[in-house]
Amino acid sequence: MADRYAVIGNPVAHSQSPWIHAEFARACGHDLEYTRLEAPLDGFARVVDEFRAAGGKGLNVTLPFKQQAYRYCAHISERAAAAEAVNTLVLDDAVSGDNTDGVGLVRDLSSNLGLALAGRRVLLLGAGGAAQGVAGALLAAGIARLVIANRTVGKAQALAQRFTGAAARGYAALAGERFDLVVNATSAGLHGEAPALPAGVLTQHCMAYDMVYGRDTPFLAAARAAGARACDGLGMLVEQAAESFFVWRGVRPQTAPVLGRLRAR
Ligand code: NAP
Repeated sequence: MADRYAVIGNPVAHSQSPWIHAEFARACGHDLEYTRLEAPLDGFARVVDEFRAAGGKGLNVTLPFKQQAYRYCAHISERAAAAEAVNTLVLDDAVSGDNTDGVGLVRDLSSNLGLALAGRRVLLLGAGGAAQGVAGALLAAGIARLVIANRTVGKAQALAQRFTGAAARGYAALAGERFDLVVNATSAGLHGEAPALPAGVLTQHCMAYDMVYGRDTPFLAAARAAGARACDGLGMLVEQAAESFFVWRGVRPQTAPVLGRLRAR
């Protein structure tokens, strides 16, 4: 019987992960099955327990369960511990948790988009599971400065406190600041909204990256209007999936062909 994997979330019907992992499995010659699991908002642990009891080998975890997944695990990788959020579960006798969002973002920026991160001034928008997952990886990539801004400023402060070299702001306090890279890790784009950035934060000298994918967002539109280079999160989606595949299967699939086909779909 093929090894069983799935992505768990709520909602999860839109997830491209089954298609991406089927492509990786085909390219690597692995026999596996990868499906979607929608858990009720109060039923994450029960659905994971059932999947595990039925022989499931691993799960990707998406909104809104990454913090619950972190608490569910018996063992936690260093990068999941830094994030305090888990997006990859390895279901063995004991459950291990990892977080591949940070490496996924850094690989997309550096390998696919050609942005050398060392020495850059980076603004990270949002303080939810996605921002938690990438803050440590951005700092580890050698950026010069990390400012975390969030609508609820207290959450940005709590996140920044966990990382040496990070500072926190409310959006209004960003006026007059300059960045080389602005990463939107909020879910605002899913609701047709954008973080309320002061004029002058997005400029022709910066790259604007929205983790949301599959749609044009007001943040990306504002970035283009300001002359910034605007990039969506599809490459991060494929890169974080490739790292999860590596965690489960011990093989790192090639991402460029899959990203190309996904973009064409
Ligand atoms: P989350 O934990 O629910 O956090 C949501 C964040 O968005 C919070 O910081 C929240 O601010 C902010 N926010 C929501 N609506 C906003 C608005 N209208 N204006 C300003 N800020 C707003 O979600 P998450 O797990 O961090 O995910 C965030 C986004 O990243 C999602 O859209 C997800 O699909 C995307 N993502 C993409 C990838 C990828 O591979 N491309 C990977 C992970 C996540 P408050 O704290 O003030 O509520």
